[in-house]
Amino acid sequence: MAESMQGLKRTHRCTEVSEANVGQLVTVMGWVQKSRNKGGIIFTDLRDRSGLLQIIFEQGEGDEFIGAQEFEKAEKLRSEFVIAVVGKVVKRGGAANENLKTGTIEIRANSLRILSEAATPPFPIEADSKTKEELRLKHRYLDLRRPDIQNNLILRSKVVNGIRNFLADEGFLEIETPILMKSTPEGARDYLVPSRVHPGNFYALPQSPQLFKQLLMCSGYDRYYQVAKCFRDEDLRADRQPEFTQIDMELSFVDVEDVLDVNERLLQKVFKESIGVDVALPLPRITWQDAMDRFGSDKPDMRFGMELVNVSELVKDCGFGVFTGALANGGSVRGLNAKGQAQMPRKKIDALVEFAKGYGAKGLAYLSVQEDGTYKSSFSKFMSEEELAALVAAMDGEKGDLLFFAADSNKVVWDVLGALRLELAKQMDIIPEDEFNFLWVTEFPLLEWDEEEKRFVAVHHPFTMPMDEDLPLLETDPGKVRAKAYDIVLNGTELGGGSVRIHQSDIQEKMFTMLGFTQEQAQSQFGFLLDAFKYGVPPHAGLAYGLDRMIMLMVKAESIRDVMAFPKVKDASCLMSEAPNVVDPKQLEELCISINIPAKEEE
Ligand code: ASP
Repeated sequence: MAESMQGLKRTHRCTEVSEANVGQLVTVMGWVQKSRNKGGIIFTDLRDRSGLLQIIFEQGEGDEFIGAQEFEKAEKLRSEFVIAVVGKVVKRGGAANENLKTGTIEIRANSLRILSEAATPPFPIEADSKTKEELRLKHRYLDLRRPDIQNNLILRSKVVNGIRNFLADEGFLEIETPILMKSTPEGARDYLVPSRVHPGNFYALPQSPQLFKQLLMCSGYDRYYQVAKCFRDEDLRADRQPEFTQIDMELSFVDVEDVLDVNERLLQKVFKESIGVDVALPLPRITWQDAMDRFGSDKPDMRFGMELVNVSELVKDCGFGVFTGALANGGSVRGLNAKGQAQMPRKKIDALVEFAKGYGAKGLAYLSVQEDGTYKSSFSKFMSEEELAALVAAMDGEKGDLLFFAADSNKVVWDVLGALRLELAKQMDIIPEDEFNFLWVTEFPLLEWDEEEKRFVAVHHPFTMPMDEDLPLLETDPGKVRAKAYDIVLNGTELGGGSVRIHQSDIQEKMFTMLGFTQEQAQSQFGFLLDAFKYGVPPHAGLAYGLDRMIMLMVKAESIRDVMAFPKVKDASCLMSEAPNVVDPKQLEELCISINIPAKEEE
C-alpha cells in the first residue's frame, strides 16, 4: 500500500547530495530508475528532476543498514515506483561512475517508504529516447520525466525568469491582456470561441496582444511586457504550434534605436546567464534589401558566406534566352558559388535542380570550372568564351568551383537561391554549429502586393510606421515605402520582430486607404484603438519574441515540441488529452450552435 509523507521532509534533490555530505543522514525522494537485487544487497538508482543518485539497501543493524521488514519492501521496488529514502551518505564502495554528477557517492538507506507503486511504463524513461514520438506524446506525462525534456523545460523557466528580472529592472510592467477578444481578420486565421450570453457572437483568441499593448501605451503604462500565449489557426506545417508563447513588449517615447538597444542587452544577459554564451554588442544589422540581395532571405544565416551575386548587367545581352527573358520581364539573374564543388556528380546536381523547382524556379543553370581551366556548363553553348569568362570572374569563380544561376522575378530568384544556399551549406558541412549568430534585419518593406486579392497588404501589420524619409512615397509609390520594422534573427531563424507604430491619425488613415479599407471598415475593426488615439497617444514601438523558438535554438532541439510541456501535433490535436473533441449536445444547444460538416468530396 502506498505510504504518505507523515512528517517526512526531503532534505536534498538527488544531485544536490555531494561528497560534502559524506557521513550525514539525508532524505531524498523520487522515482526508481532501476533496481537490481544482487542477493542481500539492492542497488537502486533514484531519479528526480535534478538527476540520478545511487541508493544501497543492505539488511543489518546501524544507520548504514536497513531493518528486515524494510528490506523486504526494497525487494519489491520496480522502475517508476515513487519512494522516500532516509540514509547515510558514503563514498562509493565500487568504482566511481563518471557519467553521474553523484558518481563518487551513494546513500546507504536505513529507512524506505514506498509513496506510490507504478505500472510498467509503455516506454523506458531515458534520455535520447528511441521510442516513436507519437507514443511518447500520448503519454506525455511520462515523456516529461525524461531528463532531456526536463532539462529543456528547466532552462525555459530560467530564461523566462531572466527576462522578467531584466525587464523589471529596466522599468517594464508585466500586464496581462485578454484571451477572449474580438476577431480582427487581418493576419492569420483566428481561433473562435462562441458566446453563450450573446448567441451567434464569437470571441477570438489573440494572435498577439498587439492592439491591447498599444492601448496600454495610450493609457500611460510606457513600458509593458507580457509572457503571452498566442493562438493562430494556420495551415498545418511541420513544427508549427496552434498556440505558442511570445515575450511581448511595447515602449513609449521611443524610436527604432531605443527598442534595439534594450533588446540587445536583454539577449546578451539572457544568453549569458542561461547557456553561458557571450553575445558581443552591438549586434550586426542589415537592411532588408541587403539581406535579400546578399543572401536571398530576410532571415539570413550569417554563420557562413556563399553570398548571392547579381549578374543581370553582365548577361543582359547574352544569347541565353532564359537569362535575357527573365530580364525582359523585369526580373534578375543571380548566382552563387559552391566553392570546391566542381566534381559534384550529375545526379546530385539534378537533385538540386529539382530542389530549386520546389521553390518556384523553372530550372537552375550551372557551370563548373574544371582543373584544366575549362568550363562545364548547362548553358555554355549560348555564350561566347569571353562572356563565360566574365561571368565566372564576377562570381569569383576559381578552378574547382561550381556556380549556380537562377533567372526569374526577383522574388523567385531570392527564394530559390536563398534556399539553395542553405541546402548547399548543409551538404558541404560548412555551418559552424556551435556559433550563436545574431542579426537585426531592418527597413522591411511596409507593403506587399497581394496578387490574389489585387491589393497591398501590410508586411508586418497595419499599425507599422513608414520610415520618415519614405512618407512622401506612400501616395506615389507605396510598394517602395520602407517601414520602421525590424526582426531579430539567430542562425537563420527569426527569433522575433516588431516595429515603431503609427501614432498620427493622418498617416494611419493613408495606411488604411492603401490597404483597401473603407473608413467604416477601419472603424468597425479597430475603432477602439483609433478612438483611443484621439485622446493623446505617445509615439510608441515594440517587439515580440517567439519564446519556444528561442529555447529551441538555445538547446539545439530538433523540434519545437521538445521545449513545450504539452505540445500539439501537426494536425493541431493533442494526442494525450485528445483535444479537440466533440462536446455534449447540450453544450451546443446552449450556444445555439448546430454542426454541419460537409460530406467529404470523393477522390
Ligand atoms: N505583435 C507583433 C507580432 O506578433 C509583434 C510586434 O509588432 O510587437 O508579430
